[in-house]
Amino acid sequence: MRESNYRRRVGAVRPSHLMFTSGVGALVDLPNFAVLVRGLDDWNYTHAYGWEPIEEPRLLEAVRRNKRHRKVGELRPAPWTEGLERDPGGVASKVGVPTLPFPDWFRCTICNELGQLDSDAFAFENANPRRPHEARFTHNTGAHRGRKPLAVAARFVLACAEGHLDEFPYRHFVHRGEACPKASHPRLRMDDRGGNIGANVELSCISCGERRNLREATGERGLANLPRCRGRHPHLRRFEEGGCGEQPRVLVLGASNQWFSEVLSALALPRAESGKLEELVAEYWEMLSETPKDGYPTLRRFAPPMRDHFHAWDDDTVYAAVERHRASLNGRGEKEEPPAAPDLRTAEWEVLSAAEPPEATDDFAVRRAPEGVPAELRGHFSDVLQVERLREVRALTGFTRLDAPDPDDPSLVASAPLSRLDPEWLPASEVRGEGMFLRVPEDLLQAWEKRVEDSHEMGLHREAYATYRSNRYSHRLPGGFEAMKYWPGERYIALHTLSHLLIRTIALDCGYNSASLSERIYAGGDEQDPRAGILIYTAVPDAEGTLGGLVSQAEPDRLTRLVRRALSEAMRCSSDPLCAERLPQAQADFLHGAACHVCLFVSETTCERGNRFLDRRFVVPVGGRDLALYPEPL
Ligand SMILES: [Zn+2]
Ligand SMILES: [Zn+2]
Ligand SMILES: [Zn+2]
Ligand SMILES: [Zn+2]
Ligand SMILES: [Zn+2]
Repeated sequence: MRESNYRRRVGAVRPSHLMFTSGVGALVDLPNFAVLVRGLDDWNYTHAYGWEPIEEPRLLEAVRRNKRHRKVGELRPAPWTEGLERDPGGVASKVGVPTLPFPDWFRCTICNELGQLDSDAFAFENANPRRPHEARFTHNTGAHRGRKPLAVAARFVLACAEGHLDEFPYRHFVHRGEACPKASHPRLRMDDRGGNIGANVELSCISCGERRNLREATGERGLANLPRCRGRHPHLRRFEEGGCGEQPRVLVLGASNQWFSEVLSALALPRAESGKLEELVAEYWEMLSETPKDGYPTLRRFAPPMRDHFHAWDDDTVYAAVERHRASLNGRGEKEEPPAAPDLRTAEWEVLSAAEPPEATDDFAVRRAPEGVPAELRGHFSDVLQVERLREVRALTGFTRLDAPDPDDPSLVASAPLSRLDPEWLPASEVRGEGMFLRVPEDLLQAWEKRVEDSHEMGLHREAYATYRSNRYSHRLPGGFEAMKYWPGERYIALHTLSHLLIRTIALDCGYNSASLSERIYAGGDEQDPRAGILIYTAVPDAEGTLGGLVSQAEPDRLTRLVRRALSEAMRCSSDPLCAERLPQAQADFLHGAACHVCLFVSETTCERGNRFLDRRFVVPVGGRDLALYPEPL
């Protein structure tokens, strides 16, 4: 079957929603088969009308700090054109995120024959363009010739920790690594005898009679029965030269660890004059990095970027900024030192914690009530801002398989590329929303830190973190693995828990779906500028918005009620005493204390840390007054 036959629509979901849950390289499970989202090289914007690049210079600069993304000049929304409903065969149907069927092995639902799409035994049917989800493959050879029964994807694939993905090697496996003695292209059968996760799936060779249960490919012992990873990136239609050497694992379609997005996110901030030259240098880096200083006068005369944007600075100042930028790139990328995560939070903290709120822009507007923090909350918060408008831009920078990426330490989990060559653009989405920003008084926090630092409970949190990271990651970084290097800090746990308490109460009180809320915790900083802030905001694509609902929660009366309710809810959980007594355990892979689905967890899209680093006992006195940031009821 020619490839062009597959270039049909198999779905119609607005892609910006999906980019971060199933973007480039992800397997998308459809009713009868699965598709793999192709690399950026295959995304086509020719018929996608009316789109514009997403502007966010700060994010673009952060993206470019990664060596692989130096050439990125643009952030693009996923290709999409309106009108599919009106005219299913029209232009809109040709636009979308391109996919290919993967895995390529199919099983006939009547005769159980297992075969590949290129064997001509299977045909694609997509009779009704208005119902793309009815697309299916049929089995056209076999004893039931003429009946064309439904064929479904064989549900097993291989993946490795380097981010590769491959077909399950059925022929190799059933013949125990040998060739079939009877046929050069043996015919196979797959019999699902019930159970799940390959518990009882038997493979057999129709040609020679050999049989083997898929169970033998799973678990630790199964690894020995599988060949080494071939280094395949099917989304790029490419194999890594010489394979990759990792031991692949068997995954079942739909497994959540087949794909994790790597995302960078930034709030669009009003431009500070001081950062403007840096932004321009980053924006026109390709030109400036190649030009010696004595070439600047020529650029100022003839090159539009330099001619139009650099009036305010003389050559020496521009040159100094160029060299600073070069040093920061070199420092991050070329040395042996693994690249650090770009810091997008400092600038946001500076704006949110500024004594004078910045002038409002279309993308960002905050307001501080003239009377300041409501009287009853002065012991709890030192500042409250109503964030009337904000815009968040997210860019997809890569993906991982088997293990979720570590946002603080990008070198821990291998990131797979989104395109064959270094990309010149990355897919992104922007959401507009509103929110509230709360700051916790520094003296209160520091006194609490002194109380809990050496406590048994906080010690267990630190220990669990160190063990968890060493177990998972130490073998990936030879030499000096520092387990505690990215420990978020004691205060992070208190602020993060408080954030979840507020999010859950807001969702209950205002009837929001809590998945439409997002959090950003600003913790840490240094002695001169310690950080302790929580931003809770709506981030709903396509401006469904909440139109003032969340901002009004930060009005004095409502905020007081909200905080009172959140803190009193925090005192109990229907899973108590079990929940209240829980302490973190590295072995069980949980890095939370008194926290669970009933009392504290929020959806994956809402939490910035995967529901880790949460513990009610550090906010309210469920485990003793000394441990609580707020020991007294409000
Ligand atoms: Zn069949
Ligand atoms: Zn055989
Ligand atoms: Zn591999
Ligand atoms: Zn609980
Ligand atoms: Zn969270």
